[in-house]
Amino acid sequence: MLPATLKSDFPILGETVNGRPLVYLDNAATSQKPRAVLDASRHYYEAVNSNIHRGTHFLARAATAAHEAARETVAAHLNANSPDEIIFTSGTTDSINLVSDILPLSPGDEILISALEHHANIVPWQMLAERTGAKIVVIPCDENGVLDQAAFVNLLSEKTKILALTWVSNAFGTVNPVREMTAAAKRYGAIVLIDAAQAIPHMAIDVRELGADFIVFSGHKVYAPTGIGVLWGRLDLLKSLPPWKGGGEMIKEVTFESTTYNDPPFKYEAGTPNIEGAIALAAALDYVNAIGIDSIHSHEQELIAAAAAALSEIPGIRLYGPPERIGALSFAIEGVHHYDLGTLIDQMGVAVRTGHHCCQPLMARFGITGTTRASFALYNTMEDIESLATAVKKASMMLR
Ligand code: PLP
Repeated sequence: MLPATLKSDFPILGETVNGRPLVYLDNAATSQKPRAVLDASRHYYEAVNSNIHRGTHFLARAATAAHEAARETVAAHLNANSPDEIIFTSGTTDSINLVSDILPLSPGDEILISALEHHANIVPWQMLAERTGAKIVVIPCDENGVLDQAAFVNLLSEKTKILALTWVSNAFGTVNPVREMTAAAKRYGAIVLIDAAQAIPHMAIDVRELGADFIVFSGHKVYAPTGIGVLWGRLDLLKSLPPWKGGGEMIKEVTFESTTYNDPPFKYEAGTPNIEGAIALAAALDYVNAIGIDSIHSHEQELIAAAAAALSEIPGIRLYGPPERIGALSFAIEGVHHYDLGTLIDQMGVAVRTGHHCCQPLMARFGITGTTRASFALYNTMEDIESLATAVKKASMMLR
């Protein structure tokens, strides 16, 4: 287990809620920020703030250097071949929309997604399908929330042009075998995008090993601020695909007659970016790497196993997702509405998420409107798990 003293790196975790110490178990929605990240944001505005890439003065050069150093940190974290493969976006949603807006498709082409996807990895593809006459095809999952691999293989064909797949389900914590699924889709020449929003805080990501074309995530899920995210893309694809948003930075030369476009990553970063966010994201990744992502992973796996064991004792409870889940533990108690449960345990100082978790099709697949979800981060402790279990037990007795 990681030391419980890590909590003191996160000022907000010292707060009380309803007179009780905060037990924060809504990390899949967003993580709390360590002092190292808060300091990086503050230092940027206090000592470095300037617009980047265009200025010759001291601050412009310092801000540019810090922003591009952040890109290098992200590239190293993902084991990318080059920082040019790292495009800063505002988050996972933004990254997926970028890709879905630039990929060319024809009527009859198929976009393969899965039953486990977050709305952010469904709706942009539906919009692309509507624009182009392409078709959305969905890989089903079983009762454990595990994708049906036989069905997946059967759904692959020459028509499959895109596979857009979450690595880890935000709703159930299911970990998809993305390497194998990417390799299978590649045999048909499909473009593969992996949504790593729920993978990035919990496991090492090696983009070279994965073999996908695009990998996307949000900074705020991995201890960085909101409003910053990443699109990693294969450089040859980024070079050959059309630009997305037009404006400053993404151009080489503009005349009223025509424009030539910049090289990646700048080709996809029109306008003034979230400079402070990129720098704070790099600080967050440095923080994670100083602790060690493998140590974080095993710590969280111990927590989630303990939480699953403790909650299983509650009469009428159903846990969703397979036992090998990562990051998130979803459950429902017979006769208890998830909203009531969430509200009641909040009064006991325990913050969890209730509802459909932006996965309405997945909830529909299970015939439910939502679940209660506890989700874990490096700063959670066994005491947090005890508080969760005690609060859920108490609340379910009150509500049943
Ligand atoms: N994909 C997954 C798996 C997620 O969990 C989330 C956020 O919860 C998103 C996409 C969307 O992320 P964002 O709202 O940061 O763009």
